[in-house]
Amino acid sequence: MSAVGFTTTVPVEIILAAGKRPVDLNNLFIGQNRPLEVLEEAERLGFPTQTCSWIKGIYAVAQREGIRTIIAVDWGDCSNSRVLMELLELAGMEILPFSYPADRDSRILRQQMERLMARWNIGWEEVNVVKDELDPLRRKLHRIDELTWRANLVDGYHNHLFLVQSTDMRGGDPVGFEKEVDGYLAQLESAIPFQEEVRLGYIGVPPIWEGLHDYLEAFGARIVYHEVQRQFSLPSISSADLVERYRCYTYPYGIWGRVRDIQEEIAKREIQGLIHYVQAFCFRQLEDIIFRQCLGVPILTVEGDKPICLDMRTKTRLEAFVELLRGRKDSTTLLSAHQSPKETSQ
Ligand code: SF4
Repeated sequence: MSAVGFTTTVPVEIILAAGKRPVDLNNLFIGQNRPLEVLEEAERLGFPTQTCSWIKGIYAVAQREGIRTIIAVDWGDCSNSRVLMELLELAGMEILPFSYPADRDSRILRQQMERLMARWNIGWEEVNVVKDELDPLRRKLHRIDELTWRANLVDGYHNHLFLVQSTDMRGGDPVGFEKEVDGYLAQLESAIPFQEEVRLGYIGVPPIWEGLHDYLEAFGARIVYHEVQRQFSLPSISSADLVERYRCYTYPYGIWGRVRDIQEEIAKREIQGLIHYVQAFCFRQLEDIIFRQCLGVPILTVEGDKPICLDMRTKTRLEAFVELLRGRKDSTTLLSAHQSPKETSQ
């Protein structure tokens, strides 16, 4: 199967129905043995050091791995995407344009999807067969997510990992991916629930670092919600219509749908505070201002740059944030314990 790369979630069902192998270039980059070397390759090819590492990584890894066709999302992804795609085109790759309509117009989204299908001479019949084949796997991924926050059986890293891999069904291998998911779900039957003191949510693009989840869990805090990774798994699969599913996917359509989604999950998952991860040199850093005004829970904003282990400064800030949330929780518990029956009933 020839590979089709992409830089953000696109309808993977279309690529699979065309008999191609979907490859999320972000996952391909970060999954390399030495991702730092990939960044150095991009810098040798002329990328400024002060460019987002994901952009540099995508560019260099696509060439390193011989990807010849790439779907370019020119609206709904990244402000750097357009030039990135021009650079990849210059390097000889075939670029297929795709766009999420800013106003979520389902007619336009359908046209965009049909344009991709036309490239490979396929129609809705073939695509819907793949959609139905992927549905059991998507349900199992949602089950892992639910077991994270409701039954407290899943650690933060595995929640992140399984959801983030759903963009390309773990490198275009849905059958192998589903087997792995089945194995993981089977293990959970004998798992002991976590009893963390602090429940965290994670918003923003996936982290470029290693070790974030383990570090937090070592001192009693667990991430029970990953906003963007959960969206990658298409949580709205109750609709049979694939266009509607990608219309409900929040990430490419602007901030307000994301804010509503995060608010709902904060309440449902009893999240005490949020980690907002921002990437160095990313335009999305400005979203922090909106999240701070709209979300109503404490937020710690952390910035990552390169694929390395957590640095000491970030570790100290994470620790201080967890301590703050632990203190707030203790004082709330004390306050309710000292309330008289009369006060409680008011
Ligand atoms: S982190 Fe920001 S700048 Fe980098 S690829 Fe993602 S959206 Fe673009």
